[in-house]
Amino acid sequence: MKAPAFDYVRATTVAEVCALLAEHGPDARILAGGQSLLPAMNLRLASPSVLIDIGRISGLDAIEMRGDRLRIGALVRHQTVLRDGLVARHVPLLTEALRHVAHPAIRARGTIGGNLAHADPASELPACMVALQAVMLADSPRGTRRIAAEYFFTGLFQTALAPDEMLTAVDIPLTGGSWFFEEIARRSGDYAIVGLAALGSRLAFFSVGDRPVLRQAGEALALDPPDDLQATAAMRVHLAGVLRDRALLALGGRI
Ligand SMILES: Cc1cc2nc3c(=O)[nH]c(=O)nc-3n(C[C@H](O)[C@H](O)[C@H](O)COP(=O)(O)OP(=O)(O)OC[C@H]3O[C@@H](n4cnc5c(N)ncnc54)[C@H](O)[C@@H]3O)c2cc1C
Repeated sequence: MKAPAFDYVRATTVAEVCALLAEHGPDARILAGGQSLLPAMNLRLASPSVLIDIGRISGLDAIEMRGDRLRIGALVRHQTVLRDGLVARHVPLLTEALRHVAHPAIRARGTIGGNLAHADPASELPACMVALQAVMLADSPRGTRRIAAEYFFTGLFQTALAPDEMLTAVDIPLTGGSWFFEEIARRSGDYAIVGLAALGSRLAFFSVGDRPVLRQAGEALALDPPDDLQATAAMRVHLAGVLRDRALLALGGRI
């Protein structure tokens, strides 16, 4: 199937994107790497009348140290993050998680901003951001808003972004040490049936609800995951317990 007809605008500044979002409302969608949006349009699950291409906006494709944080621009591609030395050194949880995100061809196009704004509950990166206590930067005509990852993912494919806001970067505290990442998927590169990204005592599960689910080590899991073609809810609860136990074993006395 092919996507329905749409208008295409190539934006050159963040301000232009926000103005276009405000002008067209829900009919407009930002186009970043296109790896989630274009398949959804081809399947007619999304039919925006205007696509705002942000791929040529400069200044959003850098990974840089900002004091005790690492800032990753919204247009940084998955594969760039995966190969980045600063990320590997200071936020190794993210490097490990990205090995599990899709396949090389998709990682070559998909962007960090697109992945987080898409807010797929089965995606690795939103859970990592919650575990890492990352902060999202959202720009609009009102300025830049900082949103803690814990409050950014608000439901199934839903975020706290206002209709005229664009995600421009994510700030991640430097962590190093006590982290754990594992997911259970049918095949390498598939979305996880259940996954866990942990930093110290912060356990962020994915694919067990409509958004990342944060639990503290030692706290009851009390999960209410969905039943779908991949697994029953009971199977997911079981697998989440297995991952939790593996994390606690791996992190040992370090949490
Ligand atoms: C076969 C396949 C397998 C995949 N497997 C995985 C996987 O295992 N794990 C995983 O995490 N992902 C997976 N993905 C998705 C992939 O990671 C996408 O790249 C990512 O989810 C979306 O990034 P994008 O840059 O392509 O965004 P796009 O597809 O361009 O956009 C996605 C959504 O985000 C919005 N958006 C984009 N950028 C911004 C922004 N800066 N501000 C506000 N809104 C924005 C768009 O309007 C759209 O609604 C897979 C994709 C495919 C096709």
